[in-house]
Amino acid sequence: MKKRLVVIGGGAAGFFCAVNAARMNLDLHVIILEKTNKLLSKVKVSGGGRCNVTHALFDIVEMSKRYPRGQNFVKKTFHQFFTTDTIEWFKVRGVSMKVEKDGRMFPVTDSSQTIINCLLNEANSYGVEIRMNAEVKNIKYEYEKFVLELSGSRLLTSDYVCIACGGYPKLSMFQWLLNIGHSIDNPVPSLFTFNLPKHPITELMGVSVEKTRVKIEGTKLIEEGPALITHWGLSGPAILRLSAWGARELSVKNYEFKAHINWLSDYNEQTLKEAFQSFRTTHSNKKISNHNFAQLPTRLWQFLLEQSGVKHEMRFADLPAKIENILVRNLVDYVVEVKGKTTFKEEFVTAGGINLSEVDANTMMSKKVSNLFFAGEILDVDGITGGFNFQYAWTSGWIAAKNITLM
Ligand SMILES: Cc1cc2nc3c(=O)[nH]c(=O)nc-3n(C[C@H](O)[C@H](O)[C@H](O)COP(=O)(O)OP(=O)(O)OC[C@H]3O[C@@H](n4cnc5c(N)ncnc54)[C@H](O)[C@@H]3O)c2cc1C
Repeated sequence: MKKRLVVIGGGAAGFFCAVNAARMNLDLHVIILEKTNKLLSKVKVSGGGRCNVTHALFDIVEMSKRYPRGQNFVKKTFHQFFTTDTIEWFKVRGVSMKVEKDGRMFPVTDSSQTIINCLLNEANSYGVEIRMNAEVKNIKYEYEKFVLELSGSRLLTSDYVCIACGGYPKLSMFQWLLNIGHSIDNPVPSLFTFNLPKHPITELMGVSVEKTRVKIEGTKLIEEGPALITHWGLSGPAILRLSAWGARELSVKNYEFKAHINWLSDYNEQTLKEAFQSFRTTHSNKKISNHNFAQLPTRLWQFLLEQSGVKHEMRFADLPAKIENILVRNLVDYVVEVKGKTTFKEEFVTAGGINLSEVDANTMMSKKVSNLFFAGEILDVDGITGGFNFQYAWTSGWIAAKNITLM
């Protein structure tokens, strides 16, 4: 009798575990159970339909710094299967990757379907059985076998189980995992944008600023990088990174807080004041509105002048010291009241999930139930945007596969 592995979840982590386990041990009967009627649905829509497979970072310590939760855990896993291995794995199967300027890696075809086809072909080649509309409702471990209760009161037994069911937004959805003795770190969303309801700055939607520094008042959260003004508030890499690092803290604040934006992150208040005064001396007869200091986007410059009380016709020579101070302050410390969040359309993940102290990072096996493995977002690991979440899905799926086949 062939031994059986049941993988719960037909997403990136589940597929990577299933296809690798089936290839590494041809005597293993591998079944993927997927609760919906779609396979790899997040891979399909990921990266705007292009699938940001991984990131061109080849240093394990640097790479692990991109995970707000699970940093030490992923560091251990990357020693076994890293970005280089992902690139090679797909390359051997005919999928080449390309790197974008910011380090994100995509298939050269610019289509997530290439990744899906590759994984489906691999599953087909190694006889992975796929069952859709098969939701696992409960798992029990009885007489050295797992008994899985599926929707429609169906039962399935297995020697090994890999849980790769992704993140759940509500604690109640984890009940079937609590039943097997694992504990859950409360799920909260990560990778969201900030809402500024009715704030006049939203009229500048579409304006993006390359070098901002954004701080959240009353916390240590601070990020530098591009910010984008949208019709509902603020987005862009600096904001998304803040939302990831602050996922728990901001949820406790119910997403209501003050954000301090420095639109010119090369300056602080003192250095900007000095630079502004020397600029002012050389341009004393010029109209302020026509002389966009530090090359900010014109609409933002005009907006900040207006907010600071600088009249349209005013020349640098006529700028009262009080207004100059307000303008400098608005350039380096513009304060907005954030009220609420919006899920980032391109890439969102759940922070929280199975507590990492209950899983061995070297094998991905549960420390509570032997022969039970985990992979992907179901664990309390999440990365910032840029291909880090998929890299961890491939890594954890591969390690689970390897260790299942060694059992
Ligand atoms: C729109 C979007 C775009 C993204 N883009 C990127 C990107 O470009 N790069 C990147 O690195 N990350 C991206 N991410 C994040 C990335 O998609 C996830 O981190 C990754 O998909 C997690 O893989 P997973 O296999 O753990 O979970 P999932 O992909 O969520 O797969 C889990 C599967 O399990 C199934 N399932 C759940 N419960 C059960 C059950 N009880 N029984 C049976 N089946 C079950 C689900 O239906 C699902 O198909 C994106 C996320 C979103 C939402």
